[in-house]
Amino acid sequence: MAMLFVEMQTHDGHEGLGLSYSKRAGGPGQFAHAAEIAPALLGEDPSDIAKLWNKLCWAGASAGRSGLSTQAIGAFDVALYDLKARRAGLSLAKLLGAYRDSVACYNTSGGFLHTPLEQLLVNAAASVERGIGGIKLKVGQPDRALDIERVEAVRKHLGDHVPLMVDANQQWDRPTAQRMCRIFEQFNLVWIEEPLDAYDHEGHAALAASFDTPIATGEMLTSVMEHGDLIRHRAADYLMPDAPRVGGITPFLRIAGQAEAAGLMLAPHFAMELHVHLGAAYATETWVEHFDWLEPLFNERLEIKDGRMIVPTRPGLGLSLSEQARAWTREKVEFGTRP
Ligand SMILES: [Mg+2]
Repeated sequence: MAMLFVEMQTHDGHEGLGLSYSKRAGGPGQFAHAAEIAPALLGEDPSDIAKLWNKLCWAGASAGRSGLSTQAIGAFDVALYDLKARRAGLSLAKLLGAYRDSVACYNTSGGFLHTPLEQLLVNAAASVERGIGGIKLKVGQPDRALDIERVEAVRKHLGDHVPLMVDANQQWDRPTAQRMCRIFEQFNLVWIEEPLDAYDHEGHAALAASFDTPIATGEMLTSVMEHGDLIRHRAADYLMPDAPRVGGITPFLRIAGQAEAAGLMLAPHFAMELHVHLGAAYATETWVEHFDWLEPLFNERLEIKDGRMIVPTRPGLGLSLSEQARAWTREKVEFGTRP
């Protein structure tokens, strides 16, 4: 996993912190692209975020409008929003216009495929005890019976009232997904996530139309256009955009607007430190994924209470980089002149 951070400062002393990331390969590429396009921001008004997003996109136009190049833009875009909110003395959620001051959250990191069943039950119970509202399990084992056994065991262990979701991470083909979704209907799941290939919109749409259990997908998509295509196919009940992955808050808000107009529910993927704000600014209740992987990078911690994640009231994202984040920094480049 690689993180790309942008620390931005204006001549009158306002600051913004932005981030993007890559799981597996891609981090050095994002960094290189960010370093090439960064000078386009010098001398600009940081309030004009949408204009600057376009300018950064044009600076790397031949690299395309999705994927790695826009993910590099994402770090600048988040920093510009952080700066604007901090300058206004508002949390990012308040700057955007929040509907609520906390979001429903669920735990992902206790239920990976390789986690033995006994440990899975211990992790799930501990997570609920800690105040994290829902539990997500990975499914998609080569042995389908094992998936069913594990979901059944967790449902029994936690009782009927705990929200439970499963995530197949694109492991099934269409006939398998049909069978598994049918079997999983009995467990009253909040959703079944990525049952099929992330770009198989027709397949996801057929599942969404066939079963009561909502279908969730969208985390792998990397642009507004890709999400628009998914929405037009009615391939998801829960849309799962990931702000850094789609190029920042500017594209995320455009996706959220389309999702809202289509009557979809929203469950942003990963980066809870950012998505807690974006989830609070969506019209209907969202689920934000509790993932503690990024915690060592920041001095602040999110407060979890009664199944919900509290939106920080500190200005901007409410985040500052930790000493640990600086110690782990491998490459760094500076542009402009310090005020
Ligand atoms: Mg997932």
